[in-house]
Amino acid sequence: MMTTTPRTALITHPVFLQHVMVPGHPECPDRINAIQNLLIEEGIQDLLAHFEAPEATREQLLRAHNARLLDDLEHKSPTEGSVAIDPDTWMNPFTLQAARHAAGAAILATDLVIQGRARNAFCLVRPPGHHAEHDKAMGFCFFNNIACAALQALSTHRLHKVCVLDFDVHHGNGTEDVFRHNSNVMVCSTFQYPLFPYNEIAYGQPHIVSVPLSEGAKGTDFREVVMDVWAPAIEAFEPEMFFISAGFDAHLLDSMAGLQLNERDYMWITETVMRWAHKYAYGRIVSSLEGGYHLGALARSAVDHIRVLADLA
Ligand SMILES: [Zn+2]
Repeated sequence: MMTTTPRTALITHPVFLQHVMVPGHPECPDRINAIQNLLIEEGIQDLLAHFEAPEATREQLLRAHNARLLDDLEHKSPTEGSVAIDPDTWMNPFTLQAARHAAGAAILATDLVIQGRARNAFCLVRPPGHHAEHDKAMGFCFFNNIACAALQALSTHRLHKVCVLDFDVHHGNGTEDVFRHNSNVMVCSTFQYPLFPYNEIAYGQPHIVSVPLSEGAKGTDFREVVMDVWAPAIEAFEPEMFFISAGFDAHLLDSMAGLQLNERDYMWITETVMRWAHKYAYGRIVSSLEGGYHLGALARSAVDHIRVLADLA
């Protein structure tokens, strides 16, 4: 009998293309298409294990969110047209379903990786999740996908310590909010500051490691804080699994913000997380797409990230 090493899982769903906020909105279906097309062009698509994202159950969503948020979104979900949740965040008739499948993708990814059915996993999803707080949808996000995944690892799989890493250019206020009082989850982030969501940065809790970067910061600045601030925190915590809020909007070409990362930096951080994961966590990594709005830079950065995860670099 032949045994094969499990592949990197790619988890997505067709409904992610049907969630459209308003015409011209930067968080658009073409973001998914751009990544998928480049995966095919680069010959990586065939080397991944493909899974369709299930819907997260109400019980799974309630681990990260309160019932009022779930009920409120169900109530607001339109049968036609669009409704605004905030000035940047809109629901169309497919949004709620897409949001449930996006959280479900991250939850399935967690199951596959912990059960050894995938070496690691990338969730090609939208809407993104890291701005969604315990009781609030905001900033293009409805449910906090990566928080649901981390809570699946703790609740269903009985892990004790996991780490969420967030290198999106925006502060992952939602993920911090969900885990503020849960020291079983370390949240390490870098983000441009000041910038949306303009929330206060929480210092003084050892499991919340937030590192603001000034506008114009380069890849070398990013790498320095990862090694100087994230690395010692992770070394002390020894997480059993890593989750990545993979936003690629800190790229030089992304006009949503003013950081200057490039594809090399995204490969470097992925290699770094792989090293930590092998040292502490049996290689277990679940990564989920957050931001990234320059379609070319997004596709190249995400594909390079997946290339490293899949050991194809
Ligand atoms: Zn972002």
